[in-house]
Formats: sequence, C-alpha cells, structure tokens
Amino acid sequence: MKTWSEAAGIQPLASKIITNSIQRDRISHAYLLQGDRGTGKEAIALLLAKTLFCNNRSGVEPCQECNTCKRIDSGNHPDVHWIEPDGRSIRKEQIEHLQKEFSYSGLESDKKVYVAKGADTLTSNAANRLLKFLEEPAKQTTAILMTENSSSIIPTIRSRCQAIDLKPLNPAAFQDQLVDNGVSRSNAVLMSALTNNLDEAISWSKDEWFAQARKLMVQLIETFSTNPNDVFLFIHQQWMPHFKERTQQEQGLDLLLLGFKDILYYHIGKEEDLVVFTRDDARIESLVMFFSQEKLLDILNKLLDAKRKLKQNVHPTLVMEQLTIQIQG
Ligand SMILES: [Zn+2]
Repeated sequence: MKTWSEAAGIQPLASKIITNSIQRDRISHAYLLQGDRGTGKEAIALLLAKTLFCNNRSGVEPCQECNTCKRIDSGNHPDVHWIEPDGRSIRKEQIEHLQKEFSYSGLESDKKVYVAKGADTLTSNAANRLLKFLEEPAKQTTAILMTENSSSIIPTIRSRCQAIDLKPLNPAAFQDQLVDNGVSRSNAVLMSALTNNLDEAISWSKDEWFAQARKLMVQLIETFSTNPNDVFLFIHQQWMPHFKERTQQEQGLDLLLLGFKDILYYHIGKEEDLVVFTRDDARIESLVMFFSQEKLLDILNKLLDAKRKLKQNVHPTLVMEQLTIQIQG
C-alpha cells in the first residue's frame, strides 16, 4: 500500500475519507485508525505523513522519491514522531517527552505529525496528558492513533479523534495473491488465517522457523491425545526453546488455536474450513475421536485466556503450564 490508489483497492472507505480531507485541505487534528493486524494501519499512517510533507505531490499522491518521502519511510524525519508501547503500555513520560518536542516549532517546516501505535495501551495518566494536548491542538499538528482493540480506547480520546475503521481483508483474494507470489495453496490458506499482511505471509511461508513451529503445534496436540504424561516434558524441551520471543509465543498460541479449531470444524462437518489439516488426514480423524466438541470449545476459550495472559506479561512458561493443566483437566 504505497499509494492512495493502491490503498483505495484495499481499504476503499478509509482511503476516500482521508484523501477527501486532503483535497479539501481539511485534515483532522487527530485520526484513530482501528483495525486488525495487517489491515494497513501503518501503511496508511506513513502514506498520510508523506502526503502532508512531500513537496512534489501529484494530486494527493506523494512522490515517494524525494528526500522527505524517503526519510519518512525510514523513520528519520524530524517532524514525524512515532510512539509505541514501552513494554505493555504507553506511559505518561513518553507523552511528556513528545509535548516538549512539540513545543519547539517544526524543525524543517511548520508541521508536525505524531503516530501512536497501540493507542489502547495508553495508561490513564498518559491518556490525560494526551487529552490536554488534543484539546489545544497546535496549529498544524496531526495525530494518528492506531489500535487493534478499538473497544479499549478511552471514550474521551475517541471523542476527540476522527475514527476510521479498516476492514478485514477478503481471505480468498488474499490467498490468491499469496499463490501468485509463489506460496503453495495449503500454506496460503494457513497464512491467511494468521495474518492479513502480504509481506509477512510470504516471508513466514519461506521461513524454516515457521515450518518447524507448525510441526510442533501438531505434535503438541497429538501428544495431548496419545501421551498425556509427556506433555509437560514436550513443553519444556521442545516448545519453549522454539518459541523464545514474545511475538513467537503469541504465534505459537495462534497456531494452536487454528489446530484446535480445525478439529472442531471437522467435528461439525465444516471440512472446507480446515487450515492446518486436510480432510483426508488420518491424524485429524483420531483427534476428533479424542476431543469432544464441548472440550474443544473449552480449549479455544482457554487459549484466548492464555493469549491475554501473555499480553499482561505473565511468564510464558507459566502460561503454557497452566494451559496444559486446563486442557488436561
Ligand atoms: Zn516526496
């Protein structure tokens, strides 16, 4: 999504709202971009920043080639600031730092843009600070807040922003795009269940780590059904060493969700929705015998709980151990 015309193909409504406001020279003081991972929040924020600063624009499209566009792309433009959660939240100090920066006039122009990722993680102190800031908008300041969790945005923040919803991408079109990029159909189906981001999906599908992660996920589910006494050992000796980083641990849970969902789909005859297993896979037939529908629904809930705990910084080994006990219980 490098240009507005490209963005219009993927997020038509959002692109239209923003490009209209650019054409009429009525840019909002604050936008709230809300949508799932991979729906293009960052790409749109970048594009908007370039549009505001590029001096070589053709219509609404930034040139992408000038020094300004390039520096914004690489995160090195002095008047475009990015903030993201420090640990699990955006803290008051980060907003104060930003305000201080903003109190100087634009370093290279009279404009400033700040982009906040994970705006739902603002602590209440940070949110109060930010609110004051949004209430007295400096003349040419544009805030772009982004969130995957629109329900967690404080209403007072929301009311001061123009909220823009980014739609989930169409999975079939996305899978075709992946296949066009050399990803096998079965991998494309799995990837489209995990991400909406094309580049991410292509790189995962070529990644050894990811292939191994997928294998471990199936092995773990099988161990639950065939050697329940070995599950703890498996978690400690195989799972944890492979899923080291936090993002990897989240991905491990996402993969488990997909694996267990498949078993549930097979149960209820929705075999066309399988993403990990195939319908003639002997493994899934025995897994269906082992896990009841009721149990599977319970497991899916427990997996979502586990994801929340990871986000709350509970130690990953503990999260996996608790999950194991719950699945076995
Ligand atoms: Zn440019």
